[in-house]
Amino acid sequence: MSSRRKFIQQGSIALIGSFLTPRIGRGNSNKDMIMTVNGPLSPSELKFTLTHEHVLVDFIGAEKLSKDRYNAEEVFNVALPVLQDLKKLGCSTFVDCTPAFLGRDILLLQRLSIASGLHIITNTGYYGAVGEKYLPKHVYSETAEQISERWIKEWKFGIDGTGVKPGFIKTGVDKAPLTATQQKIINAAALTHLATGLTIAIHTGNGDAAVKHLEILKAKGVSPSARIWVHAQNETDTTYHIKAAKSGSWVSFDGVNTSSVKANINYLKTMKNAGLLGSVLVSHDSGWYHVGEPKGGKYNNYNCIFEEFIPAMKQNGFTRKEIDTIFIKNPAKAMTVKVKRG
Ligand SMILES: [Zn+2]
Repeated sequence: MSSRRKFIQQGSIALIGSFLTPRIGRGNSNKDMIMTVNGPLSPSELKFTLTHEHVLVDFIGAEKLSKDRYNAEEVFNVALPVLQDLKKLGCSTFVDCTPAFLGRDILLLQRLSIASGLHIITNTGYYGAVGEKYLPKHVYSETAEQISERWIKEWKFGIDGTGVKPGFIKTGVDKAPLTATQQKIINAAALTHLATGLTIAIHTGNGDAAVKHLEILKAKGVSPSARIWVHAQNETDTTYHIKAAKSGSWVSFDGVNTSSVKANINYLKTMKNAGLLGSVLVSHDSGWYHVGEPKGGKYNNYNCIFEEFIPAMKQNGFTRKEIDTIFIKNPAKAMTVKVKRG
């Protein structure tokens, strides 16, 4: 594609976002709202939602990352049929969890949302897990306040000049103990939440790390209900899941695939027995176009929850209402943009 045509196409897509900006500003601030790459929705419009998936990831590292490393047109053509299949299976909303410096591409997501008919939600925030390989250099010289200002700016004015706003905060830490920098980005997430109402999804190495970042959020006056404990399945001691859910936090079992159906059904049974299904999220953490591999390498689909997991839930005595709680009611509540103090 010529650079001029690319500019025009991207410009016109960006305009969709900028048209939506005033609507957000003038809207009734008491009304619950969810932010997608194509503007705000009411929570009831979300419907069946996968809360943790990816379209594109580039593992090259923050310092070498560049949009020149892939052809967005090729990614679009690879991802679209997979997303169309997902839509056909009954999915309505797709939460893309790829953060900045790992390949977040706003215009790609916007195009894919329009073409597939799926609502897509993107994020602000930085990912501090995997030894901090995906953190930009400025994280080390800036304070939590300065980092949060960057994220708040994305909420206020849009990402990368597009007018497209993040729908949540995505960050990440390894196993406990958290490094000073990982603690700093959790503090930045807390400040961003208080200024924006965006929910904080934290990739988490183990249960002790989940306990620690919840302490950081609470110290800043953020309610546990503003946090999604991402990859709760990394912690096999279910007492951590129960304790987190009882505090009001979201507990996300987001590694569902053919080989993990049984283990995740067991996590759900434990939560159900404790009366805590209202705090549970379930997703695949699947996809994606792998930047740097020919044609994006192996792109895993998002079908397992529909084709295997929900049938397994039914076989294990979960009711339609409980399934809807996990895939419709909980995601709408979790992704609602609202300041939650506590
Ligand atoms: Zn992920």
